[in-house]
Amino acid sequence: MIAAMRRKNHKMELIGIFGGTFNPIHNGHLVLAQTVLDTLHCTQIRVIPAAVPPHKETPAVTAQHRAAMVKLAIQSQPKLVLDTCELDRQGPSYTIETLHLLRTRFPDQALCLMMGQDSYQKLPTWHRWLELLDYCHLLVVHRADKEQSLTLHAEHKGKLVDIATAPQAFSAQANGLISFLTQAPPDISSTRTREQLRQADNAVRDQIPPAVWQYIQENRLYKT
Ligand code: ATP
Repeated sequence: MIAAMRRKNHKMELIGIFGGTFNPIHNGHLVLAQTVLDTLHCTQIRVIPAAVPPHKETPAVTAQHRAAMVKLAIQSQPKLVLDTCELDRQGPSYTIETLHLLRTRFPDQALCLMMGQDSYQKLPTWHRWLELLDYCHLLVVHRADKEQSLTLHAEHKGKLVDIATAPQAFSAQANGLISFLTQAPPDISSTRTREQLRQADNAVRDQIPPAVWQYIQENRLYKT
């Protein structure tokens, strides 16, 4: 982190970080990642499945299956990279610990953690949430199903930059800024996708990549 901080005001490579349960990964996730790539011009986005999500029930589908589905979903997109670092750790998959690891792996790059509006609103429940900006920038993406407006936490006052200037601002320093992207990805959630898979509702095939659907059938996931 120190090396990257020293380089403030120089244009840095920007790496996106996209964590989630991905139970399963769906087209909303993929559109979110593509929109961030197009908007921020990240050189890559590291897609990181949580082994043990701290804020959700432990998924019945294993982290290995969820990671395998992520791999299939992003196989044709060279800038999306599966990162299984959270699968190698014991205990809850705290994002702050992942960021610490990524910062040691990428000392000279700017990092940007992306998340949906729902995750941002719950951020104060995250482990050591006030330290997140010491490691990365935050890009918060609207969710089509959320009617309430997206509000900045008081603790983040003074950190917000307009999305139009975010690409330059995020590459000029390693961490510490927030931007809101109001362009919402399609209204898809993993919870609803699981329910549709359980009910063998064919509409789900428009919401997940074909290779992920195939994997789910072959491994008989989400049947109960
Ligand atoms: P669930 O419905 O089970 O809560 P999810 O669809 O939110 O799951 P996650 O893997 O928990 O999937 O999501 C990872 C991240 O992607 C979160 O920050 C979430 O807010 C964001 N996200 C997921 N789907 C969308 C979407 N359709 N639009 C915007 N953000 C999304």
